[in-house]
Amino acid sequence: MSAEIICVGTELLLGDILNTNVQFLAKELASLGIPHYYQTVVGDNPTRLQEVIEIASQRASILIFTGGLGPTPDDLTTETIAQVFETPLVESTEIIEDISQKFASRGRTMTDNNRKQALLPQGADILPNPSGTAPGLLWQPRPNLTLMTFPGVPSEMKRMWRETAVPYLKSQGWGKEIIYSRMLRFRGIGESALAAKVSQFFDLPNPTVAPYASLGEVRLRVSAKTTSETEAIALIEPIAQEIQKIAGLDYFGSDEDTLASVVGSLLRQAGETVSVAESCTGGGLGAMLTTVSGSSDYFRGGIIAYDNQVKSDLLGVNAEDLEQYGAVSDTVAQQMALGVKKRLGTSWGISITGIAGPGGGGRN
Ligand code: ATP
Ligand code: MG
Repeated sequence: MSAEIICVGTELLLGDILNTNVQFLAKELASLGIPHYYQTVVGDNPTRLQEVIEIASQRASILIFTGGLGPTPDDLTTETIAQVFETPLVESTEIIEDISQKFASRGRTMTDNNRKQALLPQGADILPNPSGTAPGLLWQPRPNLTLMTFPGVPSEMKRMWRETAVPYLKSQGWGKEIIYSRMLRFRGIGESALAAKVSQFFDLPNPTVAPYASLGEVRLRVSAKTTSETEAIALIEPIAQEIQKIAGLDYFGSDEDTLASVVGSLLRQAGETVSVAESCTGGGLGAMLTTVSGSSDYFRGGIIAYDNQVKSDLLGVNAEDLEQYGAVSDTVAQQMALGVKKRLGTSWGISITGIAGPGGGGRN
């Protein structure tokens, strides 16, 4: 038993809009404990949509569609579904009445092309849409296969999902199991190096462990599938601790922790302060540290010493060393850090010097 999400819309393929619907639905399926292995985006093209439905209906038992329920000729989802399952479309008087009422309440009359939105495959139920015109369908064209369609408009889709689809799925026994995850965060180590160190955890069935790389950090997601959060934590905790032990100082935090928030809480605990001297990052490190609320408790300030003259004048970097070793050197980096520490009277001084930008990189 698994679900599959099919998002219909050429604008998604063109990159004109971000597929936020699939992100929302994927999280919802995870929270209901419904397995979900494939997502497809397909344009407003009946042949390709038909092909997608045929493939998906062979490997999944719940197909969730978004988009293509509107009144225009390029809105093809419902009629293509009916075609695949060789079922005639019938006009629902209930939908016709609902749409005409919605139009009347806005002082407009229903146009002919809106009648198209009242067509459903014979035997399908209506998935009501309280905030828009087009309703969706809830249909079992054959045993062990349930289809649900939603409009593309995210606000309408979400409301229909919460108000109708979730209660329906729960009535079918879903939602008793939850998927609970903890994200472990690492820095100073590459994804493959970390993966090699903890590879023995990748084959675990429950909890599962999977790596993710992103800018400046590598993450491991530890996910447990259980019936309660307490049980999930009990499964996750020992694995997380073992991984932390193996990773040592490369591990810096979990879930919502950031490097800046972790550094901040260590400084606060120790009653210490920090200041920064930045060359190539132009204030980026200071900005990072101050994104944490309450950072004024430990962050005193910084000096952006882009120019060598500023490095000498404000940070006391020795001009001869600048000449001899260059601005991008250990010697200068050390003097910058000591300089800002002294000038701002903090327990710690951090400096960054290097070459960044399109022409190349390197730092100290
Ligand atoms: P309508 O009645 O508005 O035509 P529809 O069901 O036919 O609704 P689409 O025409 O496919 O839906 O999409 C309507 C709008 O919803 C799109 O222009 C886009 O802004 C948004 N949308 C569609 N699909 C998605 C998606 N997967 N993620 C985020 N937004 C989407
Ligand atoms: Mg449309």
